[in-house]
Amino acid sequence: MDRPPIGPIDNHRQREQGVLVYPVYSRRSQGLSLGINLFPDRKRCTFDCPYCEVFPFERDKPFTQALMEAQLYGELEAAARRGIAVKDIAFSGNGEPTLSPDFFRALKVAARIRDEAAKEAALVLITNGTGLLERATFQALRQAACGPAALHIWLKLDAGTEAWYTRMAASPVPWARLIPAMTAFTGCAPVTIQTMLCAIQGRPPPPEEAAAWERLVVTLAETGAAAAWAPGQARPGVTAVQLYGKARPAPRDPWTTALAPAYLEARAAALKAALAAALVCTAPISIQVFP
Ligand code: SF4
Repeated sequence: MDRPPIGPIDNHRQREQGVLVYPVYSRRSQGLSLGINLFPDRKRCTFDCPYCEVFPFERDKPFTQALMEAQLYGELEAAARRGIAVKDIAFSGNGEPTLSPDFFRALKVAARIRDEAAKEAALVLITNGTGLLERATFQALRQAACGPAALHIWLKLDAGTEAWYTRMAASPVPWARLIPAMTAFTGCAPVTIQTMLCAIQGRPPPPEEAAAWERLVVTLAETGAAAAWAPGQARPGVTAVQLYGKARPAPRDPWTTALAPAYLEARAAALKAALAAALVCTAPISIQVFP
């Protein structure tokens, strides 16, 4: 797909310079995405992914809702002046958004501004899922995903085994707690699964990891497909799976490296076959590959 002419604003490094709202061309949204960065002062995350793109920085720049609001209006106006459609407004930035005490207030503001000024834009949360271990966060995200905000939740699932999770997330959050929370959430809200496929120290995920990841995605899809839901409400379950490759520099390069596009395509094809065999496709699950 051709890139839209968004030129100099295509710079995600702005988020390490204290910017709260940063426009980027998003491979996964296939157009202009306005990222919201809740951590302009330093990275905060419950994971320490070896491929993480956030370079070390510290700035004396606190997040403020007023500044976020002004910058979001400013970027929406800039896009409108240039005739560029905004595909989404995405909470992402320098860490795990649900860690921020400002997150839910900022989400409310972003939803209001989206409804006022960019009705077609999706509202997205890119999360590693660890916030789901907090009951209040779980419930608030469920409500945001199923209610009028129609928050799209992109849930990171980089592994199917504890061993690969340990290497990909390097997190103190136990796998044994995280996966049940993600499964429970998939049973009550729509989610997009996003999986980074890369090599660690030159080695791709081992075959047993690939097979376990596939089984886990099928289980999540089955959980959603079996869940009760009322017509008119957002249907719970896995709506899409995004397999993406390493495409940007990271401070720990070359610890992780990109895999061949054919590897990602093969994993996507295998997942598609596994989902079909499990007969869980009562609603279509879109499988997308971004090498
Ligand atoms: S979850 Fe995201 S922000 Fe956190 S370490 Fe991983 S890639 Fe970086």
